[in-house]
Amino acid sequence: MSYHRFDAVIVGAGGAGLMAAIQMAGKANIAVVSKLYPPRSHTGAAQGGISAALGNTEEDHWQWHMFDTVKGGDYLVDQDAADVLSREAIDAVLELEHMGLPFNRTPEGRIDQRRFGGHTRNFGEGPVRRACYAADRTGHMIIQTLYQQGIKHNVNFLDEHHLLDVLFTDDGRCCGVVTLEMKTGEIHTIHAKAIMIATGGFGRVYKITSNALAGTGDGIAIPFRRGVPLMDMEFYQFHPTGLYKLGILLSEAARGEGGILRNGDGEAFASRYAPTLGDLAPRDMVSRFIHQEVREGRGIDGKDYVHLDLSHLSPELIDEKLPDVTGFARTYLGVEPKTDPVPIQPTAHYAMGGLPTDVEGRVIRDAKNTVIPGFYSAGEAACVSVHGANRLGTNSLVDLVVFGRRAGKHMLSFIESAELPPLPSDPELVARAQVNDLLTRPNGERAATLRQAMQEVMMDKVSVVRDATSLNEAKAVIDGVRRAYHHVAIDDHGKTFNTDLTEALELGCMIDCAEAIIEGALLRQESRGAHYREDFQARDDVNWLAHSLVYRTSGGLELGKKPVTITIFEPKERKY
Ligand SMILES: Cc1cc2nc3c(=O)[nH]c(=O)nc-3n(C[C@H](O)[C@H](O)[C@H](O)COP(=O)(O)OP(=O)(O)OC[C@H]3O[C@@H](n4cnc5c(N)ncnc54)[C@H](O)[C@@H]3O)c2cc1C
Repeated sequence: MSYHRFDAVIVGAGGAGLMAAIQMAGKANIAVVSKLYPPRSHTGAAQGGISAALGNTEEDHWQWHMFDTVKGGDYLVDQDAADVLSREAIDAVLELEHMGLPFNRTPEGRIDQRRFGGHTRNFGEGPVRRACYAADRTGHMIIQTLYQQGIKHNVNFLDEHHLLDVLFTDDGRCCGVVTLEMKTGEIHTIHAKAIMIATGGFGRVYKITSNALAGTGDGIAIPFRRGVPLMDMEFYQFHPTGLYKLGILLSEAARGEGGILRNGDGEAFASRYAPTLGDLAPRDMVSRFIHQEVREGRGIDGKDYVHLDLSHLSPELIDEKLPDVTGFARTYLGVEPKTDPVPIQPTAHYAMGGLPTDVEGRVIRDAKNTVIPGFYSAGEAACVSVHGANRLGTNSLVDLVVFGRRAGKHMLSFIESAELPPLPSDPELVARAQVNDLLTRPNGERAATLRQAMQEVMMDKVSVVRDATSLNEAKAVIDGVRRAYHHVAIDDHGKTFNTDLTEALELGCMIDCAEAIIEGALLRQESRGAHYREDFQARDDVNWLAHSLVYRTSGGLELGKKPVTITIFEPKERKY
């Protein structure tokens, strides 16, 4: 057994994990565990921007940002958290600037800002420029900047360590993690006073997704198996503009810079549905507009996609502000966006749900907000909840830096006073059994076949629209996938970089996520934000202005509700 002891361990080296690490670096003995080399984290793929009401190019206020966040999230947002997000966004972006992040600039030398869906001036009057950006590679610049800071401050990076288990004491304190070192196949126990999960999202549950291969929900599924609840899992965002059939993202920045969606008749249909914001309505709505156009036969050539038209934008603007995403259209579809429209369809993009936390990043175990001592989460893995039922574009990157920073600061104060909790007597027991089982089983079900079955049914039955019938059909398929998974077998029985093994482990985590999504979606008999039930098309604030909590128990999944925190903005009908 390989044993390590730290004051704090952070699992995940994306924007959230690195921002937390930087708060503690040099002040405590900390480690960052990542299954990837840190700059390969999905944060590096973020394109369009990071929001903050800097007001650099036109008037803006954090209160407007807060309102847009709450309305964009269909009033399921906890408003105390949205208050923190929009206020602290300003300082967090300036902190990134001071760390050296190369933002695009206005002619006067300030950070430039662009339009993004759902971000408005004066509480909904029209679009505002709030997204700070570095061309369409904002995330790349963030991850590089934060990683450099981590190196500078001598953070201990345990790269290519795959999380296998999260450990708790008998009285419910979090006390460490168990990992698999990819290079050697060795199992490690990492003992710590405080543990943070910052493992990002789980878009790979779906067939068409913008997410990287690593987006498999490991960091939320593992504590879920140990009794920690997941919140609001039924809210999974489909981004309107993924490249057709591939799902690779074509950033909303393209519409922020003036791009237009057109149906098979060439009509710019979005303003028919959303007269004020048109193409810049929030993502849940634009994805549904596309779904409806396609269903009513107005897709391109009657097929299941529409066009994103950038051909009226100046070639210079495209080269300067949208170089990467237009490059994707050229490389993967052979389409030249300067002259021809790009085929697009909604793509699985972002998990609004995840591990429930308070505004200090502490994971909570129930509807009464009882904190699990020593256990933290931030970023896409967490649900604080600032995104409610639907996240606005550019609000994730700012969530990472604001709540990653807060969680890191809170962890630092926690570890200063906390004792090191005891480990369970055989900390690797569960992890070792799981790995040995997979490594020694001679034959059985193929992980790739099961994964495909899961991804297809989730895409067909649990995506932009759902109803009780489609959800129950999906549940039956996922139940079958779960049963078959007990007999999954792999070909590689070796120790070194056994990706066959880690892919099988990841599939297990995705099955947990899929089950939680379906359970939450069946429970919630209303339509709100990204969760649209054809059999319950209206929002129902009387019964459903509440977060959902799902628990894994020995008897199966159990569901509960948690009140939404409303401070100033009373729920209203959402019009754009
Ligand atoms: C293509 C794309 C474009 C986007 N553009 C924008 C944008 O312009 N603006 C915006 O606000 N948002 C954007 N988003 C969303 C945003 O980028 C993500 O929500 C955010 O980056 C997630 O960051 P994170 O720190 O939570 O996790 P990630 O950056 O996803 O990092 C996860 C980390 O966890 C580690 N990890 C995962 N599982 C394990 C395991 N089992 N063991 C060990 N380590 C593990 C990984 O190695 C990685 O280091 C975009 C997303 C995508 C996919």
